[in-house]
Amino acid sequence: MAAYQKLYQSGELEERIRRAWAMLESCHLCPRRCGVNRLSGEKGMCRTATEAVVSSYGPHFGEEAPLVGTGGSGTIFFTNCNLRCMFCQNYTISQLGQGRVTSKGEIARMMLSLQQRGCHNINLVTPTHVVPHILEALLVAAGLGLSLPLVYNCGGYESVETLNLLDGIVDIYMPDMKYSDERNARRFSGVKDYPAVNRAAVKEMHRQVGDLELDQRGIARRGLLIRHLILPNGIAGTEGVVRFLAREVSTNTYLNVMAQYYPANRAFKIPLLSHPLMREEFQQAVNLAKEHGLERLDGIRPRSLARLI
Ligand code: SF4
Repeated sequence: MAAYQKLYQSGELEERIRRAWAMLESCHLCPRRCGVNRLSGEKGMCRTATEAVVSSYGPHFGEEAPLVGTGGSGTIFFTNCNLRCMFCQNYTISQLGQGRVTSKGEIARMMLSLQQRGCHNINLVTPTHVVPHILEALLVAAGLGLSLPLVYNCGGYESVETLNLLDGIVDIYMPDMKYSDERNARRFSGVKDYPAVNRAAVKEMHRQVGDLELDQRGIARRGLLIRHLILPNGIAGTEGVVRFLAREVSTNTYLNVMAQYYPANRAFKIPLLSHPLMREEFQQAVNLAKEHGLERLDGIRPRSLARLI
């Protein structure tokens, strides 16, 4: 049984929806705390008011193995983002607004279609700024038989207050841990307090769902899965990230050490980010994770490493 089904049956899901929409009146859905009234059409950093925009949806076979299984991960890509990463590989969606306004009924139908097509989960990509919309769609879909686990696949800049609304609803949290240095976060993602906010969010996520649990087929049922994209020149601050996970979360954390960096978006203009990742940089990051006792590492399969120089 997916986590949200109990809340659906008890009526609590409707109460969470009401509270989520109320947060948009002076928007503090995420730690940007723009304070704009999204209910009256104002837009903050995420450039989203009352309507959700979706770029695409469908089974995805390029996600982490425990999400993909044999049927794929059922991704729904939401347009816009609360971060402004200069190297974002999806910047046409996250920063240029590529997508289509999509109603809660349409999002619910997408969820049900992904279930019918045999996906193992509903993978909500960049969901932070559209939590109320997602919860409304979930209410419709749950009433029509949705039972797949929900994956909250986010950039990791999340407010604990909003995460509390998702307690008992999200089964699998998959946040990024992008930086352990505030200056780098400010310079390359346009956000001032990323490490502290990100760590508080990761701890809350782990409190809710624990370490990643797999079923007999190796498919994720519930838990925390961290993504850490290795950036050139040590910009991601891997040592700080893995130390935090090992000491303050769990050495049993499932960690995807991501090797797929390449210069995209505005990264070409920044010498520190303008070249692909080197094999030694990636290997050093993996070694650091192992030295800190983290052994559940994804991303170190030969396929992921093929592009490294
Ligand atoms: S969700 Fe959007 S408008 Fe609301 S605080 Fe975050 S960036 Fe600002």
